[in-house]
Amino acid sequence: MPISTSTYQEWYQFRKRGRMSLQFEIVPVTPFQQNCSIVWCDETKDAAIVDPGGDIHLLKAKIQQLGLDVTQLLLTHGHLDHVGGTAPLAAELDVPIIGPHKDDAFWLEGLPRQSEMFGFPLTEAFAPTQWLAEGDEITIGNQKLQVIHTPGHTPGHVILFNDDAKVAFVGDVLFKGGVGRTDFPQGDYQTLIDSIKGKLWPLGNDVTFVPGHGPLSTFGNERVSNPFVADEMPLY
Ligand SMILES: [Zn+2]
Ligand SMILES: [Zn+2]
Repeated sequence: MPISTSTYQEWYQFRKRGRMSLQFEIVPVTPFQQNCSIVWCDETKDAAIVDPGGDIHLLKAKIQQLGLDVTQLLLTHGHLDHVGGTAPLAAELDVPIIGPHKDDAFWLEGLPRQSEMFGFPLTEAFAPTQWLAEGDEITIGNQKLQVIHTPGHTPGHVILFNDDAKVAFVGDVLFKGGVGRTDFPQGDYQTLIDSIKGKLWPLGNDVTFVPGHGPLSTFGNERVSNPFVADEMPLY
């Protein structure tokens, strides 16, 4: 179910003009309505699933409906609502688990405790097939996602950016009108703000981002209107 916001509609119209071959659909999963993204190359139908937090029956139905060949699961960070469906889905589809950055290992190791904390069914600890680091590149068919390490919400959080489509999958770093929580272990508010201003903003004001929860927006919109990270206004 795509999220209906004017930003998404604009982006959708843009992609309909047919210039781009990176596509995505959002499937909200878990009681936290986490924005799991199915991302694919329209030329090859190869796909990646970003943050399969749960409800894997919904994800499998959508993949089938779209006629996609999933080649990998990608994780932005180690929180349960983002990773809870990962191990069973990877086993079913026989695909690797890529990410997050290794500094989130303690979150993945602590999944049984996270399940208890959030009242979720027991989720076993797992390790990804491959950790991600700043500067890594992920290939989906003929498309690329750039990996950017953005600590603050969690120490091993990464975001995934496609330059052609000007789309970023930012997990819980940035939301429309908000930023990620920093009161978890190894979270840090200033580090998060530095990640947003120092690593997200340089990607461009015209970048549409898919946050981990809630509606899409653009970096440009947030630089104007987000009370946590808007550019400083001159004092006159
Ligand atoms: Zn999170
Ligand atoms: Zn989240």
